[in-house]
Amino acid sequence: MYNTPVKRPSQWIEQESQVINLNSPEVKFALEAARAAGLLVREIQSRLAGSSLTKDDRSPVTVADFAAQALVAHRLSQAFPDDPLVGEEESSLLTREAGQGLLSTVAEFVRTALPQAGVDDVARWIDLGRAEPASRFWTLDPIDGTKGFLRGEQYAVALALLQDGQVTVGTLACPNLEDGWREVIGGQGSLLVAVRGQGTWCASLAAPGELVRLSVSEIEDPVQARLLRSFEAGHTNVSQLDILAENMGARAQPLRLDSQAKYAILAAGHGDLLFRLISPKQPDYREKIWDQAAGAIICEEAGGRITDLDGKALDFTRGRTLAANRGVLASNARLHAAALAALRSQGI
Ligand code: AMP
Ligand code: MG
Repeated sequence: MYNTPVKRPSQWIEQESQVINLNSPEVKFALEAARAAGLLVREIQSRLAGSSLTKDDRSPVTVADFAAQALVAHRLSQAFPDDPLVGEEESSLLTREAGQGLLSTVAEFVRTALPQAGVDDVARWIDLGRAEPASRFWTLDPIDGTKGFLRGEQYAVALALLQDGQVTVGTLACPNLEDGWREVIGGQGSLLVAVRGQGTWCASLAAPGELVRLSVSEIEDPVQARLLRSFEAGHTNVSQLDILAENMGARAQPLRLDSQAKYAILAAGHGDLLFRLISPKQPDYREKIWDQAAGAIICEEAGGRITDLDGKALDFTRGRTLAANRGVLASNARLHAAALAALRSQGI
């Protein structure tokens, strides 16, 4: 389905020695599972959006979250029956009496991809995602950026493979991004994959074929840096972030969007810096691994750098959260030292 002879914009660096191995069973699985889930949630959004998509009504996102996790978990159990899945969702909300209606809607959507699926199967598949992290495991955020999904804006399906504490494969399906970076609501969407040592690549989600290699920007001067910011104020420290941007002199209009789609844009060279500062409302919040794993390798393999706010490597060996890290800083690598210095000088 995919090939890699590539149209590259001229600023992209050719590295002939590095070609993605699409014959790897893990890479094939990751691409196919993320794509299937991305197409399913996009369909759910378009079908449920008109009728019930309001800020207060979480049902479309709930249906989509569960359906996507069921689909990916089922596929994983077929492809790699021994691999644990650490997913964001669990079925208890659906299997209670009050959730039965929701469960049958979820199953209806899962059946568009897996016609034989019954409600019990779907509940069981969702709970395959309750496994604990192990030496080798997958982590899934079936809909990262639920608020963006509800607004009809940016969200992503994020799936990653971790081996011995290292993310080795990561995929992001971003239904409302084109070419990995341009925001086009209801367009072709983007499917990104990164493999350790083999780069970050992007295809169309709707019509995959050609994989294009992505590279971070070459910007070195913080004045030119474009920040990638959370849409939701509660996920960061907005006033500290404003001061940081000002102190660094960053002049480009920041991009404000939900989810790990921000890492896709960073990898594609259309944003340069991403700070996840600690929200004053939740000072003890620790990042969830499914919110960072796929995005981290997509950033790194495109030539970027990702650490926490102290410059420490993200430690994926601490269970379901990045318990040993404080926030996240991701960059095009060239701006990383300046960003860490700015954080230190502001006492963050
Ligand atoms: P974003 O779309 O970048 O704002 O991030 C969305 C993710 O932020 C969600 O998947 C949540 O798991 C996560 N999140 C929730 N609360 C916080 C918080 N206080 N600090 C950082 N991230 C959070
Ligand atoms: Mg998330």
